[in-house]
Amino acid sequence: MTVECHSCGREFQVINLHYSKSQSCTYPDLTEEQHNLLIGLTMGDGCVQKARRDGGHASMTVSSTNERWLRWLFSRFGERLAVEPVLKSTGAELQENAAKYPKFDNSGGEWEYSDIYMLRIRAHPALTQIREEWYPDDTIRYPSTLDLNPTITKAWYCSDGGLSWSDREHAFAAFGTHNEADRAEFLCRLFRIHGFDPNWSEPLVRFDLDGTKQLLSWMGPAPPGFEYKWEHRSREQYDELKQEVTA
Ligand SMILES: [Zn+2]
Repeated sequence: MTVECHSCGREFQVINLHYSKSQSCTYPDLTEEQHNLLIGLTMGDGCVQKARRDGGHASMTVSSTNERWLRWLFSRFGERLAVEPVLKSTGAELQENAAKYPKFDNSGGEWEYSDIYMLRIRAHPALTQIREEWYPDDTIRYPSTLDLNPTITKAWYCSDGGLSWSDREHAFAAFGTHNEADRAEFLCRLFRIHGFDPNWSEPLVRFDLDGTKQLLSWMGPAPPGFEYKWEHRSREQYDELKQEVTA
């Protein structure tokens, strides 16, 4: 006894197995932009989680203090692929926890007590593929085949990048690298093959003044919530824009 798939018309003994394995019959296709965003988020604020059941697919949570950024991402994925961002924990709760567990590292300063929002990207075969490729031993490792493009880089920059100012007029873009800090050469090469020449200042991939301008323009316009990370001309403007989202 077989069942005909409504989508591809083929016959299957176990139709659910077909659906869970098929990329065309049950799951919406991703646009190129959506796929690139998933890669960039995996490098940054996103965490790819294993399937919750056999035959299921991996999903992603994206945590951030920047609610506007998560709302923008939600708008790029839509309800079929994502769940509207929710408040995950308030700054007050985080502060309370930190007080309860004095060993908790609070050296990062006040930001640790900001409200944290979470966007969930629904289970999808593309995430299973990313999970397999990017978490070889259950911890994240950027694959050696990784090739940046403007959208991937933008999602990574929003997550882990930013500008630092040497004075009121000179800003330099940099990416924090966390888990990949032992791969300086690999990280710099990701940019070099696209015509950039960043340097390594542990644990940051840093751009010079011209490189910063070139990078910001290559990535395209800032998404809502991160306009300040693109404002490299005026420190005053930068501070104002940043205040808007962190206040
Ligand atoms: Zn089918």
